[in-house]
Amino acid sequence: MLQIRPYIWETMTTNDRNLKNRHVFGPVPSRRLGISLGIDVVPFKTCSLNCLYCECGPTNHLSIERRSFFPRQKLLDELSSQLPEIPHLDYITFSGSGEPTLNADIGWLITQIKKISPVPIAVLTNGTLLFQGEVRLDLRQADVILPSLDAASPNAFARINQPHPGLQLGRIIDGLMALRHDFPGPIWLEVFIVKGSNDREKELSALHAAIQRIKPDKVQLNTLDRPPAYAGIQSADFSDLEKIRALWSDLPVEIIKRTGRREEILEFSRNLENSLLNTVRRRPLTLADLVALTGKDENELRQYLDVLEKEKKIKPQIIDGNIFFTCN
Ligand code: SF4
Repeated sequence: MLQIRPYIWETMTTNDRNLKNRHVFGPVPSRRLGISLGIDVVPFKTCSLNCLYCECGPTNHLSIERRSFFPRQKLLDELSSQLPEIPHLDYITFSGSGEPTLNADIGWLITQIKKISPVPIAVLTNGTLLFQGEVRLDLRQADVILPSLDAASPNAFARINQPHPGLQLGRIIDGLMALRHDFPGPIWLEVFIVKGSNDREKELSALHAAIQRIKPDKVQLNTLDRPPAYAGIQSADFSDLEKIRALWSDLPVEIIKRTGRREEILEFSRNLENSLLNTVRRRPLTLADLVALTGKDENELRQYLDVLEKEKKIKPQIIDGNIFFTCN
């Protein structure tokens, strides 16, 4: 997984947080979740995995022990004090720099948030603890769960995710299947592709078989955008992800990786790019506005916007409860 992956695009660090708050951050425009307010319920880099690609750095507290890390009422108070100041939110999202289900109060927090806010709740989790019935029970009131699974063979799992020694891949996959059985809401499974590691044919085929058993509502392919925890980790190209999508054509796959380079855009059009830039220069527009104006597909436009944003020519901004693109 994970970290909340805001638009910009999908990684948030402690620097992005409102300094008044220790645990609540945002709201941020998120590609997967719209306008999202994050709540981080574990200490920095407390996780059951130590993923090579983690954008928050190496895990400094590798654990599978669920605990009450903070006074739960304080977490709730911090969130509830923020909510009246935010006119529109698409999700309140449990995420951050570690694994949120390690917090033994997550079920209580979800229940209490439901009492004070109608905003849907999303949980980003690495999925490693879902084999425990009590963890699935804790998440039952969430509106969407976004687990991750990067490998379906023990070797690849050990290599990419460097798990806590008490974890077993088979149980994790069983846990994801049990979640599908128990949880009535949508499950969006993220698969993080590391070039030269889990993109080999054998591994992709094992992942495909596991995902067929898990039956998520969406499979979201992602890869590295930012400096990883460990040197030497390579990002997959957009075309690599397109190939995986074609290979897994029987699964509901979408690509959530940001496009960094024009060469990654199939049939790149300089005219379209200039037209997008000129349009946004005149007034802020949403992605839906741009789709209506250009008649182009949303995913195609996102790639152009990614490149322009990376070059700091445009930026996503929350205005009146919508995500607009404006010029820098
Ligand atoms: S180590 Fe892995 S699971 Fe843990 S926060 Fe980082 S990316 Fe997510």
